[in-house]
Amino acid sequence: MQVLKFGGTSVGSSKNINKVIAILEERAANEKIICVVSAIGGITDKLLKSGQLAKEKNESYLSEFKKIKSIHLKLLLDLTSIENKSISNTLQAKLKSLKELLDGIFLINELSSQTSDKLVSYGELLSSYIIAETLKSRGINAERKNSQELIVTNSNFTKAEVNFEDSNTKIRKYFNKTEQSITILPGFISKSKAGEITTLGRGGSDYTAAIVAAALNVKRLEIWTDVSGMFTANPKLVKQAYPIERISYQEAMELSHFGAKVLYPPTVQPVLDLEIPIHIKNTLKPSDSGTIISNENNSKPNVATGITNINDIALLTLQGNGMVGVPGFSKRLFETLSQEQINIILITQASSEHSICFGILQTDASKAEAAINQTFEYEISMHKIDPINVELNLSIIALIGDNMKNHQSISGKMFSTLGKNNINIRAIAQGASERNISAVITEKDVEKALNTIHERFFEDNVKQLNVYITGIGNVGEKLIDQIEQQHDYLRKNLKLDVRIIGLSNSKKMVFNAKGIDLSNWASLFHHADKSNLKNFFNKVTDLNLRNSIFVDVTANEAVSHMYADYLKNSIAVVACSKIACSSAYSNYKYLQDLSLKFNTPFLYETNVGAGLPIINTLNNLVASGDSVTSIQAVLSGSLNFIFNLFSDRTNFHDTVKRAQFEGYTEPDPRIDLSGIDVARKMLILARENGETMDIEAIENDSFLTKANLNSDTVDDFYDTLKEDEAHFQKLYASAKAKKCKLKYVAEFKNGKAKVGLQEIPEGHPFSNLEGKDNIVMFYTKRYPEQPLIVKGAGAGADVTASGLFADIIRIGNK
Ligand code: ADP
Ligand code: ASP
Ligand code: MG
Repeated sequence: MQVLKFGGTSVGSSKNINKVIAILEERAANEKIICVVSAIGGITDKLLKSGQLAKEKNESYLSEFKKIKSIHLKLLLDLTSIENKSISNTLQAKLKSLKELLDGIFLINELSSQTSDKLVSYGELLSSYIIAETLKSRGINAERKNSQELIVTNSNFTKAEVNFEDSNTKIRKYFNKTEQSITILPGFISKSKAGEITTLGRGGSDYTAAIVAAALNVKRLEIWTDVSGMFTANPKLVKQAYPIERISYQEAMELSHFGAKVLYPPTVQPVLDLEIPIHIKNTLKPSDSGTIISNENNSKPNVATGITNINDIALLTLQGNGMVGVPGFSKRLFETLSQEQINIILITQASSEHSICFGILQTDASKAEAAINQTFEYEISMHKIDPINVELNLSIIALIGDNMKNHQSISGKMFSTLGKNNINIRAIAQGASERNISAVITEKDVEKALNTIHERFFEDNVKQLNVYITGIGNVGEKLIDQIEQQHDYLRKNLKLDVRIIGLSNSKKMVFNAKGIDLSNWASLFHHADKSNLKNFFNKVTDLNLRNSIFVDVTANEAVSHMYADYLKNSIAVVACSKIACSSAYSNYKYLQDLSLKFNTPFLYETNVGAGLPIINTLNNLVASGDSVTSIQAVLSGSLNFIFNLFSDRTNFHDTVKRAQFEGYTEPDPRIDLSGIDVARKMLILARENGETMDIEAIENDSFLTKANLNSDTVDDFYDTLKEDEAHFQKLYASAKAKKCKLKYVAEFKNGKAKVGLQEIPEGHPFSNLEGKDNIVMFYTKRYPEQPLIVKGAGAGADVTASGLFADIIRIGNK
């Protein structure tokens, strides 16, 4: 004898029922089969809804009933031939009595839990009837038995408790004499000793199957559903979840108790003592191996087995100085809850005994609040304890696994993973069995929490980075190209899955929570939403994805004002814009502090020398205990380009024009030529070295004339360059006479910084600096004579994009 149970989706359409029949026929070839069926998918909910509407005197209960009726009639029609009048008449009669029940509820305006059970029992009664008649009409030796005649319970309507002694006797007696090869049993429904209709709780068809399997001590129990087994996490919420091959009874119980709906929690109990394995299989994909729940061979590759969640949780806290050292508070508290029949899902008590905190279903919260405040009325009036504190809209997430007790710091790993993603933990509980670590969090964070923990514990450590880019000019486009090109390499070699979730320019923005298709991103902008900085930020926080990184590829001050908001939400910031780091010291410091406080990276390597590892090198020197005594650098690609080209055979005006034409200067070349850009870079280096200075503290010895500096527009500026050609030729001639070259140098020494044009002699490391290259020399305690030199291309879209990309990867590797 075998017991197979098919759930709501499995019997939800004629197509699926035909799959069920194929499975049954194959199994029935060798032995007798008991097939437990659920109501057709969605029908139990519809029955409850129609009952509720009828009770509220809302006539639309009739249209709900009509839907229920037509679903069943259509199913019968699809499965059996139209001519079979007697089957269809019986079905019509059953539907008629259902309608009468609903009319009665409408009339008396009342829906007790007893009537509710009667109402929902129609779901399984109807489905089992249709399936049994279909089998018979196809010549299969099948009979239906009403399980209300087999399963006896108490009168706890909507979730009745089973009387195993009576039920087992009835089940054995019936199946001892059955002749048919397939018996169809409606799941979920039962009767009390007094003959009232009861049910076993939502999802209870699994339980029916387990009760029958245990009564008959069959070899195994099969639960056929719409997924290929018990997954490492709810597959609807965690796309990367996968079926667990083998799992122990205890783990399955914990997973189902903590929300894995695929198995109704009490199901394991009846089969556990008899060690009957439960096999969870997918009706829609019968060849998938599914999950075996048993006590054998449960070795698994991971420390943890699964992660689950329960939503709609309320957290109640009883606290007050009057509780310390006084025994009996917990007893009174829990007695009160038990009297009110409130199920406690999680408890934590601080060791100071100053507070007890516990989680219950939100639907029980107001009942619990009133009852507890009444129990402790006296203590509350004496101010020994506070009125109970109730927090709503929470969820419990639970990491489960038999193996966890053999490994250290699992909870540390779990909580730090949550912390890094800005998920606030309201309470923690760890079972003494160490099979379950639970945390209470806000409901809005559940999906993020499940996905992060799943990634950390179950995904071969591939870490997803969710990137949002603002600014898609030259550099932004290059960055997108590089991310697309390197995607597979990073996944394979660094175990990083870098996805771009949001893109925006100054006008529009596009998002795709699963990752934007990078082969085709530009076309998405044709129908994109209008963008502004606040909307973009709101969308990023609404998506609430793990490991999020905001990348600023603009040169826009308003964007830099958003960094603080991102950091406060634990969203890392990568910027090539220098604006934030060269703004007032207080703002720079504020952003650094936020980054520390929220343990969220703020990286801006490209602020100095584009892709060259200058800031990173300086940070590493300082962090490893070295101290930088002086810095000398050529930090302007554009100025280097200009002074490499300028000579007595060219003129300064044309040289600057050419630099601008080739794209080496800012749109306003005065920003480069005035030295401001270099001064900002120097300022950032000084600050990274621990200085608290502002831009005014940097001595800027400009080589421009007053007329150049005072020009109103870019065109005026060019005119003044022409007029002052003699001034620039003089600078050149002076250098040439000393066999020197002109270089725009930034210097830092003894806490002081300055920038300006210098005459650099032959042989000096700056002398042969080509084209738009940058160079930085760090003199430190460890490098006192021969400086540590970083040199290379310090401008250009490709290298800047690669610097941003390197920052993104650094965050991923953190
Ligand atoms: P049935 O109607 O067959 O009893 P249920 O809807 O009760 O099916 O249970 C199956 C559903 O349980 C799946 O479709 C899935 O959405 C949900 N589920 C939640 N957690 C898990 C999990 N850890 N593994 C598998 N399924 C899960
Ligand atoms: N039909 C019932 C429900 O939806 C029982 C079950 O499907 O297991 O809860
Ligand atoms: Mg179910």
